[in-house]
Amino acid sequence: MMSHQRVSGTHSQDIPRRESLLEWPFHEWPALLGLSASEKYRVRQLMEWIFHRRVADFGQMSTLPQGLRQSLGEKFTLRVLEFASREISKRDGAQRLNFRAADGKSIPAVCLSGKEEGGERHSLCLSTQVGCAWGCAFCASGRLKFQRNLTVSEILGQVFGAEEATGKKVDSLLFMGMGEPLANYSNLRLALHALRSPMGFNYGARHVTVSTSGLVPQMLKLCTEAPKMNLAVSLHAADDETRRRLMPKAAEWPIKEVLKAAWAYQKGAGGGRVTFEYVLLRGINDSLRAAQRLSNLLRGRKAWVNLIPYNPVPGLPYEKPEEVAVRRFEEVLVTRGIFVRLRRPQGDDISSGCGQLGNPAR
Ligand code: SAH
Ligand code: SF4
Repeated sequence: MMSHQRVSGTHSQDIPRRESLLEWPFHEWPALLGLSASEKYRVRQLMEWIFHRRVADFGQMSTLPQGLRQSLGEKFTLRVLEFASREISKRDGAQRLNFRAADGKSIPAVCLSGKEEGGERHSLCLSTQVGCAWGCAFCASGRLKFQRNLTVSEILGQVFGAEEATGKKVDSLLFMGMGEPLANYSNLRLALHALRSPMGFNYGARHVTVSTSGLVPQMLKLCTEAPKMNLAVSLHAADDETRRRLMPKAAEWPIKEVLKAAWAYQKGAGGGRVTFEYVLLRGINDSLRAAQRLSNLLRGRKAWVNLIPYNPVPGLPYEKPEEVAVRRFEEVLVTRGIFVRLRRPQGDDISSGCGQLGNPAR
């Protein structure tokens, strides 16, 4: 049985809503479309239209027989999100895209651009829930009441929608938008399969990153149930007491267990690279002692750490760290053999930096 949620429209409740075909795993498509064994190649053709040519209207899929196009159109839809608005950062060109779901909920995604060898690269920061139930003290999403999980087609719809809205190819995906991806596990898992599948969006393992506040049981399940990708684990503290203050719910799993699950993911046959995220908050977790503790936790491992200077959220008591504290923290980790990347904020002037997506669109 599929366990993901369905969205019902608010203004068209009496009209039966067509479901998105993308809610189903690919292996169920032949049966869903009523195809015989000899007609299974039609699924390939259909996927080519959907993922490669980006056609959203079954009627235009001219290599499919007329009858199949018609029955697909009667039963299913492909796009479930409407592009609502956009804000562009004057500072760095980051684009906050606001989509509207069928039930009227607003879903933010952020398109970030950067230069890499070979030219400009674009990444998309995706949402997985409306609001977030995890209530981390420093995060804007955590202040919004949890409203619902996004469906598979709403997760994938952000990729279609972003490419259509920006006219740019999205090169990599970051599940770092609104919500806790692993709390929407079954929909996330199906979306990941579609994103990584060569028949689907065909993203490489290194171009997909899922960020979690450290839900240990789901992290362990990812080892065997999800396609290979990067896992980012939000640590934010090197001791359980500080972590409990910052992430009261996620810290129900002690750091020791979170790390154990992270190493299991890194070592597992299906697992990929693990990165630890550490938001630096002035006077809370940015001391020399904290840096030493963190490096002790990661010592002897192949560990990557993303240091993220805090993006202030209006109404919250936390502050950006001082530059000298950031440098000191970074230096301690680097001198102990840890790979560190300092993540400078992008799009923070339009409420699109990490943890700011819960701020309403302006
Ligand atoms: N729920 C997931 C993914 C979304 S948040 C998670 O918590 O990992 C993506 C990253 O942004 C997380 O590491 C999160 O802790 C961090 N973050 C949240 N609020 C922030 C803020 N105001 N400034 C900087 N980073 C923040
Ligand atoms: Fe939710 Fe992540 Fe924000 Fe915590 S940091 S409230 S888990 S989105």
